[in-house]
Amino acid sequence: MTAQTVLISGAGIGGPTLAYWLKAAGFEPTIVEYAPTLRSGGYVIDFWGLGYDIAARMGLLDKINSAGYHIREMRVVNGKGERISGFGTNVFRELTGGRYVTIGRSDLSRLLFEKIKTDTEIVFGDEVVGLQERADSVQVTFEHGGQRRFDLVIGADGLHSAVRRVVFGSQDQFEKRLGYVVAAFEVSGYRPRDENVYVTYCQPGRMLGRVALNEDQTLFLFVFAKDIDAGSEMFDPTVQKALLREVFDDGKWQTSRILAEMERTQALYFDRVSQIKMPRWSQGRVALVGDAAFCVSLMAGQGSALAMMSAYVLAGELAKARHEIAFARYEKLLRGFIEKKQQGAERFASAFAPKTQLGLFFRNQVIRATAIPGLARLTFGRDIVDTLQLPDYQWPHLT
Ligand SMILES: Cc1cc2nc3c(=O)[nH]c(=O)nc-3n(C[C@H](O)[C@H](O)[C@H](O)COP(=O)(O)OP(=O)(O)OC[C@H]3O[C@@H](n4cnc5c(N)ncnc54)[C@H](O)[C@@H]3O)c2cc1C
Repeated sequence: MTAQTVLISGAGIGGPTLAYWLKAAGFEPTIVEYAPTLRSGGYVIDFWGLGYDIAARMGLLDKINSAGYHIREMRVVNGKGERISGFGTNVFRELTGGRYVTIGRSDLSRLLFEKIKTDTEIVFGDEVVGLQERADSVQVTFEHGGQRRFDLVIGADGLHSAVRRVVFGSQDQFEKRLGYVVAAFEVSGYRPRDENVYVTYCQPGRMLGRVALNEDQTLFLFVFAKDIDAGSEMFDPTVQKALLREVFDDGKWQTSRILAEMERTQALYFDRVSQIKMPRWSQGRVALVGDAAFCVSLMAGQGSALAMMSAYVLAGELAKARHEIAFARYEKLLRGFIEKKQQGAERFASAFAPKTQLGLFFRNQVIRATAIPGLARLTFGRDIVDTLQLPDYQWPHLT
């Protein structure tokens, strides 16, 4: 019997994970990635929980831990750079049994990609623009690559998924905007570095973070309260930089220097902070995983792990049953769990960059309280510890 073919749109986190486990289940995956090469830079992510367990099953832990960072302190500073609040990150390590690391999103993506690149067809610089379902397959139209048939198509193409748009309709039907914008960029040679400390400067409605990376790079992360729609301004770096200057340039802490560095960067990550809530994650022979299906947003601090988990479960269910049954089981297993993660992220969003001075005061008190281990467990425990058991599947082609 010939292997079933599966087109995966997106080579981020969920896409390569899905390709790996589909291969292990005996399918023949092809990945199409819109970017001309694997995306680099971006931002760092905290990685633990079920994603960490799946990475272990893929034999990736050593590489992930050596590419990653072991942040020891979250530090909040005032306008003069003095520490006003913060906590040691031991509590995260305790709650996760030491299975916790901070890593560049693009480093995790690259490590996942390396697991599949030699035995999976990968097409860069193209994207799905049309999907037509037939009785026994899906006819896919690519922007550049003409038409091809696949047995199944999976959208792993992130928050702004093209597969979701083509099959389910426009993003605004499913997008819940959390009222924040996030931006990030990296520079080389910035001082001071404060190795393994995540330093943040917060004012009502805005937060600017700084973390030292390998090879003398420094990452800056901006989060601020603003509700912007999908208008073209979002895609113009000049407009984005002007907006960041307008919001952050208060002349305090290191803001002026950081904004001057930003002017020179060619690679500014900039997006609104949103969740995706869909009534269904599949239709016919097409399904979605990761951010494309259920983006929990950066406020959950776990989107990558969840993208990997959804890929693993989808592949495992497809290994057991026909796609109609597998897609339904996949959603039944995960939907409740994901909804709780989304609710947790929404709760956290209101505390992340408080919009008033009073809110900021309370947030800093809570951060102070988390320096006391028992309280930290109470504050974080519910959102950090995963309650779902990873199912065990048969992987006849696992090498
Ligand atoms: C600032 C920030 C901080 C975060 N912090 C954390 C954290 O601490 N921990 C954590 O686990 N998660 C975090 N996340 C979330 C995490 O990055 C995402 O949830 C995760 O990357 C989702 O993986 P994905 O594979 O679904 O999508 P992505 O990683 O977004 O990958 C999608 C891929 O699809 C490609 N693509 C897009 N459009 C198309 C198209 N039309 N055709 C083909 N390919 C396409 C993209 O180029 C990309 O390669 C954070 C996110 C942000 C923005």
